[in-house]
Amino acid sequence: MEIISAPQDMQARARQWRGQGLNIALVPTMGFFHRGHLSLMEYGKTQADRLVVSLFVNPAQFGPAEDLARYPRDLERDAALAREVGVDVLYTPEAAAMYPPGYQTYVSVEALSQGLCGASRPGHFTGVATVVLKLFHQVQPHTAVFGEKDYQQLQVIKRMAADLDVPVTVVGRPIVREPDGLAMSSRNAYLNPAERAAALCLYRALLAARDLVISGEKDREQILAAGSEIITSTPYTRIDYAALVDPETLEDVEAIEGEARLLLAVWINKTRLIDNTMLSESRLCCV
Ligand code: AMP
Repeated sequence: MEIISAPQDMQARARQWRGQGLNIALVPTMGFFHRGHLSLMEYGKTQADRLVVSLFVNPAQFGPAEDLARYPRDLERDAALAREVGVDVLYTPEAAAMYPPGYQTYVSVEALSQGLCGASRPGHFTGVATVVLKLFHQVQPHTAVFGEKDYQQLQVIKRMAADLDVPVTVVGRPIVREPDGLAMSSRNAYLNPAERAAALCLYRALLAARDLVISGEKDREQILAAGSEIITSTPYTRIDYAALVDPETLEDVEAIEGEARLLLAVWINKTRLIDNTMLSESRLCCV
């Protein structure tokens, strides 16, 4: 496995591969790998001749009061895990190379970025869309793989790639969970044992909503109430949002017709966790 840090070196390697007729897959990450990241890498390997994993804790997507400085990092462990999966290039650009002095260009995906995580994290998706477009130019992937864990992010990136004619296929992959159901996240490392136990309420809320839908309930208020009740009755929690939305536009739906997405963001003391699931009126799914 090669480790590349300079954007121009990454671009040169991508150009060389493309010149040889090779297909490239990209998995963008902020590192501190868990099985969720590894599942994206394993999938990426099946989709291309060369797999690039980018590891960049992107300052542009963190608000001033957020956890940029304390975001967990372990490059040595990440490199060992990526090597085991068979990653061809671990791409680790420096912030100063991504945003050199004078940098002033940002990509804004308008409506999709406004609600949900965008409402509580102003500017977040502009930072995400900007860095992902830069990564697309640097790595020149044919396929880019993202997790459904960050469901709004996935929709923002699909829209950005379509709107700006980026010749890449953006693929969303299922959420990988701990054995008890907690969605894997680098931020789970912030949780103490009591908070870790409380964090399970997100998954329990998704399950309760799913059970209600399976029993025939379609109404938004009923479904959200069932999920919210489980969260509010759990210690240390504060709901940031609980939303039932159209899977593509992310606009609120009043009732489940076909498919809808239930999205949750919950504070467990000082740690903000997100999770989501598809809810379908016609088939058993999903979480
Ligand atoms: P991050 O390093 O948290 O920015 O995540 C990098 C990529 O991994 C994103 O596309 C995430 O959606 C994805 N991801 C994070 N956690 C999970 C998970 N539990 N299951 C599947 N994908 C995930």
